[in-house]
Amino acid sequence: MSDFSLSLNEDQTSIKKWVHDFAETVVRPVAHEYDEREETPWPVIEEAAKVGLYSFDFIANCYQDKTGLMLALVNEELSWGDAGIALSIFGSTLAVAGIVANGTPEQVAEWVPQCFGTVTKPKLAAFAVTEPDAGSDVSSLRTLATYDQATDTWTINGTKTWITNGGIADIHVVVATVDPSLGARGQASFVIPPNTPGLAMGQKFKKMGIRASHTAEVILNDVKISGNMLLGGKDRLDERLALAKEGKRASSQAAMATFEASRPTVAAQAVGIARAAYEYSLEYAKHRKQFGKAIIENQAISFKLADMAMRIDAARLLVHRAAWMAGNHVPFGAGEGSMSKAFAGETAVWVTDNAIQILGGYGYVRECPLERWHRDAKIYTIFEGTSEIQRLIIARAISGMRIN
Ligand SMILES: Cc1cc2nc3c(=O)[nH]c(=O)nc-3n(C[C@H](O)[C@H](O)[C@H](O)COP(=O)(O)OP(=O)(O)OC[C@H]3O[C@@H](n4cnc5c(N)ncnc54)[C@H](O)[C@@H]3O)c2cc1C
Repeated sequence: MSDFSLSLNEDQTSIKKWVHDFAETVVRPVAHEYDEREETPWPVIEEAAKVGLYSFDFIANCYQDKTGLMLALVNEELSWGDAGIALSIFGSTLAVAGIVANGTPEQVAEWVPQCFGTVTKPKLAAFAVTEPDAGSDVSSLRTLATYDQATDTWTINGTKTWITNGGIADIHVVVATVDPSLGARGQASFVIPPNTPGLAMGQKFKKMGIRASHTAEVILNDVKISGNMLLGGKDRLDERLALAKEGKRASSQAAMATFEASRPTVAAQAVGIARAAYEYSLEYAKHRKQFGKAIIENQAISFKLADMAMRIDAARLLVHRAAWMAGNHVPFGAGEGSMSKAFAGETAVWVTDNAIQILGGYGYVRECPLERWHRDAKIYTIFEGTSEIQRLIIARAISGMRIN
């Protein structure tokens, strides 16, 4: 037998089915309600914690999957249920990725479990990079972290915006500049523990989609944290800064290391939305009759569905390739993580748009989930790097040139 396989193993198949059942029986029934209320779905998060889906152990097991695919599989299923609720449950994993990508083994062991809380008292985590004047241009962060050697204390000041779980999280992982003259190479990640004075939630945003997921500003006003909250430690930071000052490249930049690792997972969420819309419109097209026959019997409709099936499969294959590469420490030589994110995000927007078209008027009303899925899909061409920025990363990777 060939040792190349696209089949899922037994473990993956059973976890995928378990998450699918949760998405179908717990998430979908309340998806419309939480979209309307624009509230964090705490009862769903609590249920996810109770059954072990929202837990440190579960995520640790996913990371241990040798193929690298498990987190992508889980995210596709949960987002098939509802992307806003899925993000409420798994938004914390971005902070986890930030800690794992930049922290020492001791910091990972201490802080990652706290991102989840306990079975009876689940907690959330947030990863805060974006600022009002630093969105796509992550190198221009203004949030400043200054170090006082005498007291071994960092003081952080600045404003973060568009932060998933911002201000309602127990653990905030904040990327700040420690040397503004060095751009992205002068940045570092910090853990802000629960109830730290000076950290406050600013404006909570009312959004177009993923409305069950909380998005807000985070204000950092003279936030004081001890030296050991710097992820990776002071010696490693000093080494990195010294290399940057000599014009040499350090092995990783704080924010970029996190986004690279999380792109295939985010892309898998977009695939989940696209699949939900495709299945829904396929069923409808088979049953809706006009001019005496099912509308799917017109090529104009069935070809749309054929294109949806093709694009969704292509998106998933890109996601699985990137997840496999990330999980097996194969570098993204041609921007494969960005390819998966850009293609899956745009596929979700295209598929949900065409699915609404197949349903006609019924697809345009709020009782029908398609309009919500279309609104939800749009965020996947914007956050975690816009589609333009993903193309920039791919273009630079394939050309080896400084494309602007
Ligand atoms: C719901 C939501 C949740 C989010 N969650 C988080 C979070 O948890 N943590 C976090 O840190 N951030 C988060 N973000 C922020 C998100 O990552 C940014 O919104 C995104 O990176 C884009 O930045 P921006 O909005 O400032 O747009 P801008 O960077 O201002 O971009 C505006 C437009 O210009 C284009 N553009 C910019 N530069 C270039 C270029 N060089 N070439 C071509 N086109 C370009 C962009 O592609 C875009 O179309 C979230 C955002 C949203 C909306």
